[in-house]
Formats: sequence, structure tokens, C-alpha cells
Amino acid sequence: MRVLGIETSCDESGVAVYDGERGLMAHVLHSQVDAHAVYGGVVPELASRDHIRKLAPLVREALAAADCGPTDIDGVAYTAGPGLVGALLVGASLGRSLAWAWGVPSLGVHHMEGHLLAPLLEDDPPEFPFLALLVSGGHSQLVAVEGLGRYQTVGQSIDDAAGEAFDKTAKLLGLPYPGGPALAELAETGTARFDFPRPLTRKPGLDFSFSGLKTAVAYALQKAEPSPTLKADIARSFEEAVVDTLVLKCRRAIRQTGLRRLVIAGGVGANRRLRRAMAAMCEAQDASLHFPRPEFCTDNGAMIAFAGYCRLRAGEVTPPGISARARWRLDELRPPTAAA
Ligand code: ATP
Ligand code: MG
Ligand code: FE
Repeated sequence: MRVLGIETSCDESGVAVYDGERGLMAHVLHSQVDAHAVYGGVVPELASRDHIRKLAPLVREALAAADCGPTDIDGVAYTAGPGLVGALLVGASLGRSLAWAWGVPSLGVHHMEGHLLAPLLEDDPPEFPFLALLVSGGHSQLVAVEGLGRYQTVGQSIDDAAGEAFDKTAKLLGLPYPGGPALAELAETGTARFDFPRPLTRKPGLDFSFSGLKTAVAYALQKAEPSPTLKADIARSFEEAVVDTLVLKCRRAIRQTGLRRLVIAGGVGANRRLRRAMAAMCEAQDASLHFPRPEFCTDNGAMIAFAGYCRLRAGEVTPPGISARARWRLDELRPPTAAA
């Protein structure tokens, strides 16, 4: 089975072709970063309009790169939520229309299920069950994954998501949008001389809280003597605080759940310091660690094509109609069910 996947939940238009036998055949991406950078964040209306402009050419490009025509596609998957509703509807409309025109089934994919399954696109994919840390721009959660569509959130952020904390802190430091990668780069040149909090690590439990960290950064900026290295040192101290916190919670989750495979996905999973620290922790815990390649940590069409393939293959289809959900909890998902 060969599936065309479309991602438009936020500010990235992604299209990919995944084939059950041949694997990922093509993936193309258009990032809207430049369009939103001047506003310091994503402007939903601009995002929708840009998806409209870019999506059809991207589909053509992905099909050409996969060297296949419409008749070679057996199903279409598109992100149906959670995300910006206007942006989602662009992908949903095109996805449903193509499927209807081509006479193939189509399926609305949960964006976070896409992130969660992305590591399965890599060599040596983890088997079920595994523990997943989803750390993206809008989500921070620890999920016990029993199988496809069998997800139990065992911990989550009670305020900001990890990526959101990176972005807001980067803004405080005067770094350009999107802040996460810029902050990580600045941190490379800094020293961790500020002892920022490791929120909720002293209490039991697997929840996260990142909003206090941003406040600690704001205080440090106000109090310290301005110096050329100040921002780099703050960036480094902030990054280490987030990484320490995430590593500690994952170690705790491994011990509590007994799961010996850890998957890290979502944009913050691209962070190099996090990748290194998680690798060391997993080695000490005798657990295996699985990441998507960095470009598949952030939003992309490949993860949607793959998640869609996993469900379409099992016979699941989304009933007719074009709809999208801004909010949609991962725990609401169920294993694929074949259409009657
Ligand atoms: P969600 O998936 O929750 O809907 P999203 O799709 O906006 O949110 P992603 O595309 O998965 O999120 O990830 C983007 C986030 O990842 C941003 O917050 C960005 O700052 C962060 N990010 C990307 N690269 C890095 C990095 N190297 N270090 C830290 N954070 C990073
Ligand atoms: Mg994005
Ligand atoms: Fe995402």
C-alpha cells in the first residue's frame, strides 16, 4: 500500500509518500518561518493562506520525487488535529479532494500520533510497547505506548510545553523566531553559571512545569551586570535545566513503568544536548533509545504519511466530510478499526 501524507497543522507544509514495502519514497517541506519571523510568532491567517499557496505544488513535487502518478497512490492521509484550525482545514480539504478524485480512501491523522510514530521510520525501529516523550511546541507529555492507538499519558506539562519554554525564553533573550534552535546555538558558547530550577523534580510524579523557568530567566536578565557573555550563559543554564528535568522524568518513568524502550519525538527532540544526555541515561538504565532524525523531530509530511499508512493498512477510513479539530487528546485515540 502506498500513502500520500499531508501535514498543515501549524507553520510547515509537508507532503510525503510512504510505501509499505519500499518505505519512505519522498518527502518535501516548505517552512513558513520567514513569513512569521517579522511578527515574532505564528500568525494563523497568514499560515492558512500560505498553505493554500504551497500545498498543491508540494503534492506535485512529492509525487514527482517518488516517481509516481496519482494512480500509484492507494490512500491519502492528512493531519486532522490538533493545531490551527484554518491551517488544518487547508490540508484536510486538499487531502479529501484528492482522495475523492483518485477514488482511494482517506484518513485524518492525529498530529501527535504522527510525532510519536516518527522514530519508526528509522533503521532499528522500537517494538511495542515503549515509553514516549513527546516534546514539541505545543505539547510535553510522557506516554506509555502499548501499540498503535493504545496510548496512556502518564505525565504532562501543567503549564508551558518544553518547546514553548524554549521559544519564550529565546524571545526574552532577544533571539529571532523560532527561538528553540537559536537558543540552543547560543547555549553552545555559554557556561551554566546560573542555578535555574528543575521544576517538579523533587516531588514524586511525572508531570512537568516549565513556566517558572522563564520567570527565573527574566529575573537573571534584570539582576545580572550586562556583559557580552551574559545571554549565552543564561541560554546554557536554561538549556541544562530543561534537559536535566526531562532526563530525570524519563528515568523515573522508565523505573515506574518498567518499559525498557524510550522514544523521543517532537521539535525539542532535535536538541543535541538533550539527545546526548538521554543516551547516557538510557545506557545507565539499560534501556534502548530511539529518536527520529532531527528533520523528522519537527513537523513534516513523512510522519503523517507513515501514521496514515499504519491505520489505512488496517482498513480504517475517515467518514466523508471535511473537518479538523483544534484540540484533540492523544488518549482519545483507539486502535485502527476496519470500515464496515
Ligand atoms: P505541536 O507538535 O505540539 O503541535 P509544533 O508542531 O509547533 O507543536 P514541533 O514542530 O514539533 O512543534 O516543534 C517545534 C518546537 O521545537 C519549537 O518550540 C522549537 O523551538 C523547538 N525546537 C526545534 N529545534 C530545537 C532545538 N534544537 N532545541 C530546542 N528546541 C527546539
Ligand atoms: Mg513549526
Ligand atoms: Fe508538531
